[in-house]
Amino acid sequence: MAKIRVLADHVANQIAAGEVVERPASVAKELVENSIDAGATQITIEIEAGGRRLLKVSDDGEGMVRDDAILAFERHATSKIRVSDDLIAIGTLGFRGEALASIASVAKVELITSTEGAAAGTRVAIDGGRMRDVKDAAHPRGTTIIVRDLFFNVPARRKFLRSEATETFHLTNLVTHYALAHPEIAFAFVNNGRDVVRAVAAKNLRERAYQIFGEAFLENLLEVDGGGAPMARVTGFVSAPRDRRTSRDSQYLFVNRRFVRDRMIGRSLSEGYRSILPHGVYPAALLFIETPLEEVDVNVHPAKTEVRFRRPDAVADAVRESVRAALARHDYVPQALTPIEPQAPTPFEPQIQTVEPQPAPPTSPPFQTAASAAVSVTPPQPRIEFAPPPSGDEIARDIEEMIRVQSVKSVVPVPPVDSAQKLVREVTPENLSANIRPLGQLEESFIIATDDEGLLLIDQHVAHERVLFDKYRALESERRVESQQLLVPETFDLTPAQAAVFDQLAPELEVYGFELMRLSGRTVAIRAVPADLPAGEARNMLAELLETVDAEKKLSARETMRDEIAASLACHAAIKVNMSLTPEKMRWLIDRLLQTSSPTTCPHGRPVILRLGLRDILKGFHRI
Ligand code: ADP
Ligand code: MG
Repeated sequence: MAKIRVLADHVANQIAAGEVVERPASVAKELVENSIDAGATQITIEIEAGGRRLLKVSDDGEGMVRDDAILAFERHATSKIRVSDDLIAIGTLGFRGEALASIASVAKVELITSTEGAAAGTRVAIDGGRMRDVKDAAHPRGTTIIVRDLFFNVPARRKFLRSEATETFHLTNLVTHYALAHPEIAFAFVNNGRDVVRAVAAKNLRERAYQIFGEAFLENLLEVDGGGAPMARVTGFVSAPRDRRTSRDSQYLFVNRRFVRDRMIGRSLSEGYRSILPHGVYPAALLFIETPLEEVDVNVHPAKTEVRFRRPDAVADAVRESVRAALARHDYVPQALTPIEPQAPTPFEPQIQTVEPQPAPPTSPPFQTAASAAVSVTPPQPRIEFAPPPSGDEIARDIEEMIRVQSVKSVVPVPPVDSAQKLVREVTPENLSANIRPLGQLEESFIIATDDEGLLLIDQHVAHERVLFDKYRALESERRVESQQLLVPETFDLTPAQAAVFDQLAPELEVYGFELMRLSGRTVAIRAVPADLPAGEARNMLAELLETVDAEKKLSARETMRDEIAASLACHAAIKVNMSLTPEKMRWLIDRLLQTSSPTTCPHGRPVILRLGLRDILKGFHRI
């Protein structure tokens, strides 16, 4: 007997739902995108119980006539593409025509919709993929979709939903993304009857960012406006280097106003900050990349949060250079040539920097002039930087530059001096000596010292971090926390997503000596801070913690969260680099460091002490 069967529609839809509908936030994403595609000027999202019990999205978009309202739930029913050629240049957020069908197959869905001037609207009810009811209903122009009891018929998936707090966090994050991408649309987000976001239509991104994040966030932002036709224009905001975060959570990235998660863009963004932000520290960013529609394939993943660029290197260049230029305009990096990234040049093989005409004028042909063909171009490498980004006759300039670079580079390079990495080693607990003698400071940042085995460099900031971390942890566990009242309380504006995390983080912070008070709305007052923490650092620290401590971790392991708080406190209270230390202070620091639980690594896992061994010194001087 033949064994292959065609699946019933509702089974196929449930399978598709597995890809599109992962959690309440993914339902909200599809519905909000549909509203945007329908030309809405006002979108309201209401949720209950983290979106599991209720998720309702209303818009004032073009609405649907009765036949369309019914058809909308069919698989592959879409008004957005007609022929496969349309797939090459997709200008709408949706196009696969499977979102509504998928959602309706795993929830109880009600759709009420009406078009402009229609005599009556339509109400369609559909449960677990089965059409229950279609009738006339009153509705102003636009569409309301109510999704109840998500996964009511798929217990296996229901089990994978996280706590209400976590799902709410994801939903808030999502709404924040769309609100940023569409300042011209009014957004409201209501959680269990409480307003979380209420933003009227804004003039531009800056105004929208102000509505959502408040003034303090905006103060630290630098405007990005770079790249250009024909490849990728990059606009938006990035944070100043002093504003540091330990996760990428505050990076809002968009491609053609579609919110994406893209490692390549994240990486290029970080590359823009090279040498001014250490590893493991991330800037905040609202970055909008505009590319011609045919340059990007959004049909990579059903949820469409991944994209594939036809020329990823050109996009990466545009992002990196635009960010770099923004930093240069604010004097964070020199305006002129900045050092080329130390990306291991192959010795003895002269490298030619790819100098792609980016951005090239719209009229220029792809970069295939005789000159460029003659100069063999290696795979994309960090480019020589121009700031501000080149414009106008840059082709000529690029060729000039290329020739210049080539002539410099074709001189056989001097072999590199033995890399310091080989000689200077991290001190580990096993070879740590108790007999460390400080000699002085290097760059007012590193303590130069000796022990019986050689010469030591101690990073004063991370060393102090380790000392303070142990101290805070000890005080907390002995419940002997000391705090200092602030004369004038500091205030802090929470973003909607942070507000959700804050309520659960606050009690843990108070354990360490913070006194926090939630004022009206999303403003928090800091009334007291732990001893040793400079008052001015309290805000930075709070912002950083609200990002690192994500909803899930926080709920599961209180200890992990307390460690994170202690690490953050230690980091903000510790002496900084570029600070001169007296010999007594150096002695004190080293003594305290040696008494800690782990003198050779900081709470974030970085090394504290490096050693140049005596043997290597002797070898270096050809004495052995
Ligand atoms: P897609 O968005 O990929 O086309 P969906 O399943 O999300 O597929 O929606 C199917 C169709 O239903 C859309 O193409 C659109 O015509 C219609 N539709 C869905 N939501 C709305 C809305 N909020 N307003 C107007 N039309 C809508
Ligand atoms: Mg859609």
